[in-house]
Amino acid sequence: MTNKEKTVLITKNGIRHDGRKKTDLREIRFEVGILDRADGSAIIYWGKNKILVAVYGPRELHPKHMALPDRALIRCEYRMATFSVTERKSPAPKRREKEISKILAEAIEPAVFDYLYPRSVIDVFIEVLQADGGSRCASITAAALALADAGIPMKDLVVGCAAGNLNGEVVIDLDDVEDKEGQGDLPIAVLPLSGEVVLLQSDGVFNPEQYKEALDLLMDACQTIYKLQREAITNKYAKITEEIIEPVEVEPEPTEAKVEKKKGEKTEEKKETEEKTPKKKASAKKAKSEQSEESEKKKKTSKKKEKKTPPKKDEEAKE
Ligand code: ADP
Repeated sequence: MTNKEKTVLITKNGIRHDGRKKTDLREIRFEVGILDRADGSAIIYWGKNKILVAVYGPRELHPKHMALPDRALIRCEYRMATFSVTERKSPAPKRREKEISKILAEAIEPAVFDYLYPRSVIDVFIEVLQADGGSRCASITAAALALADAGIPMKDLVVGCAAGNLNGEVVIDLDDVEDKEGQGDLPIAVLPLSGEVVLLQSDGVFNPEQYKEALDLLMDACQTIYKLQREAITNKYAKITEEIIEPVEVEPEPTEAKVEKKKGEKTEEKKETEEKTPKKKASAKKAKSEQSEESEKKKKTSKKKEKKTPPKKDEEAKE
C-alpha cells in the first residue's frame, strides 16, 4: 500500500480540513435525564463524539475503607466502547482510560459541595459511544450536566475544551485528525463563573505566545459552551414544570350581588337537573305503585284465606 496523503490541516487563509475557522467549535448538543434508572444522566453530541454519562449517588460506599470522613468520594469511570473507534478497541480498561477517569474525577471535585455527604460516594460513569477527538473535554462537560440532573449541590457547572497547534496556528476544538496529525493538544476544564481552571493538560509543542493565545481562546470557547449547557438543563426543567404545574386561577372573593346570582344559578341548575331526569323519576314512581299494588293484593288474599278458614276456637265452641 502507498503512504496516505497527508491532510492539509489548515490553509493559508486559516481554514481547517473540515471547513472550520480557527476559533470555530464543532456543533454541540445535549440531552439531559435520558436514563430512568440513574439519579442523573446526560448525553453529549459534540461533532462526531457521542458520550453518555450516568450519575449515581450520593450513596453508600463499598468498600467502606475507601470512605472519606469529611466529604463524598467522587468516582469516575471513563470507558470507550469497543465500537467507538474504527478499529475495534479492546474492552479491557487501558492506561489511557484509567488516566482520564482519574483526571475527570479531580476536575469535577472542585465544583461539587462534597462536604455535604461525608463517607458516601458519587459515581460518574462515562461511556464513549463514538470518539472523534476531544472526548475527555466532552466527557467532563456532559458529566457536569448529569451531576446537576442528579440534584447534587454544585458551585458551578464544569466546561471542558481543547486547543491545538496546527502548523504553528492556534486553533480551538481539535477533532480526531487534528489531534493525531497536529503539533500540540491543550485540553482544559474550567468553572465558568469564577474562571477557575480545574484541568489543564498539555501534549506537544506550544511556545509561550501560542500558549497564552490558546488559553485566551479557550476561556471564550468555554463561555460559549457554558451557555449551551445551561440551556440544556433549563429546558429540561421547563418541560417538567409544564407537565406538573397546571395554571391555577385565583377566584376573587364573591360580593353579595354575586352570591345572590350564584344562588339563582343554583336553582336554575336544580330545575335543569329535574328536567333532565324526569324519566328516572317516572320509572321510580311506577316501581313504587307496582310495589304497593302487589302488597294490597297480598293483603286481600290473606283476608280471603282468613274468611275461608275460621279460627279453631270458634269451631271448638260450636261443638
Ligand atoms: P481525547 O479524546 O480527550 O482527545 P486523546 O487525545 O487521548 O483523548 O485521544 C484522541 C482521540 O484518539 C480520541 O478521541 C479517539 O478518537 C482516538 N483514540 C483514542 N483511543 C483510541 C484507541 N484505542 N483506538 C483508536 N482511536 C483511539
